[in-house]
Amino acid sequence: MLSDEECLKAIEIMGESFPNAHSSLVADTDFHFLLAVIMSAQTTDKAVNILSPKLFETYKTPYELAEANVADVMTLIKTIGLYRNKAKYLVACAQKIVSDFHGVVPQSRKELMSLPGVGRKTADVVMAECFGIPAIAVDTHVTRVSKRLRMVAQDADVLKIEQTLMKKLPKSIWIAAHFRMIYWGRYQCMARSPKCESCPLLKMCAEGKRRVEKG
Ligand code: SF4
Repeated sequence: MLSDEECLKAIEIMGESFPNAHSSLVADTDFHFLLAVIMSAQTTDKAVNILSPKLFETYKTPYELAEANVADVMTLIKTIGLYRNKAKYLVACAQKIVSDFHGVVPQSRKELMSLPGVGRKTADVVMAECFGIPAIAVDTHVTRVSKRLRMVAQDADVLKIEQTLMKKLPKSIWIAAHFRMIYWGRYQCMARSPKCESCPLLKMCAEGKRRVEKG
């Protein structure tokens, strides 16, 4: 298992390759960003960015979306996976923001997770991106990269990964670490063909060494 210092070093090295790692979801307001994150589950940010301008233009505020017909929302988002459920979540989420939070996206994890369609990962992403509240949202890339690098235990679940990373890394770097690990997982340490031979983290990566030795 990597020490705290080695984990921080790994995140710093990732930052040298991806100094501007950030959310690629495009949104003009906190509310629209929340909608984009909900829609991005099990689909690409790119697919969401293609359809979101029309959705956001149609429903500018939670009040407008709360009154929407779910079938109309489905039509607007039908190019992404799970669009039926997601459309229901979007409308229900807007309704709850109106009924419980005066039409304003709440900032705490607990309040965010009370919204339909919002799990821990979505809440963490919104907290970090919209409100600058340190959090490490654990997605498939963060899971894979942290396990391959032995930053966390191999059998750690999402919650354990989040807790371990938050313990090992200084709070000031949580948000950057989240995005750097996502970029690392997308472009360097991909699921099927990680680029271990050219990886600047190879020296400290047990999984990478195993793969390189194996050829
Ligand atoms: Fe991923 Fe390979 Fe780099 Fe390790 S050496 S972080 S497995 S790409």
